[in-house]
Amino acid sequence: MLTDPLPRKPRLLAEFLRSDQMAELELPPDNRLNIRAAAIESAIKDGKRVVVGQACADFLAAAAAFYNVQPPGVRALAARPLRVRESGWSTELFGDYTFETMLIRIWTRTAVRKQITSGGTFLSTLCHEFCHHLDCQRLGFRHSPHTRGFYERAAALYHHARGTPVKRLCWVRMPRGRWRIDWSRMNRLAPRAMSLEQSRPGGMFNLPARLPGE
Ligand SMILES: [Zn+2]
Repeated sequence: MLTDPLPRKPRLLAEFLRSDQMAELELPPDNRLNIRAAAIESAIKDGKRVVVGQACADFLAAAAAFYNVQPPGVRALAARPLRVRESGWSTELFGDYTFETMLIRIWTRTAVRKQITSGGTFLSTLCHEFCHHLDCQRLGFRHSPHTRGFYERAAALYHHARGTPVKRLCWVRMPRGRWRIDWSRMNRLAPRAMSLEQSRPGGMFNLPARLPGE
């Protein structure tokens, strides 16, 4: 998992930095998202795409109502598309969000072997795409860049919805102002051993075990 490069245009850079700094996300004080996330995981296991799509729409409607934004549309699709890079490497697309149409697309099966996506990965993708929607509709981040703050907000939503302990990730500085996760360092640390404030200087952030690339 890698953050986007720092934009060069001052206006985009200002938005990027504000997003990067915003680590907190308000969360519902009840279990409205937990029960809907559980319904999604159950639907995924059953493998019926129509039911998965309905469960996603129900989750997104509840989340949108809490954040006081219009619910995004959602389409649950079959096998993930493969994106082939010039280098010959290919990556799978887990989900995406179209800003203009406010539509989330999410794939329910792996690209090559067509296996059902795990419940955790699927929910993580859905939360990630919803956070793009929230960025645009609520937080004023019209370009919704992938910053450390963005990943942290998506993680907060994911862990809240799934009822799992927040997992801390370690960030390593990369060229062009980017950050990537140091998995080996993260695996050595116990969950919640360090507060967010303590973790800031070392570049530690709360994120789900894995997040999609889009
Ligand atoms: Zn994204």
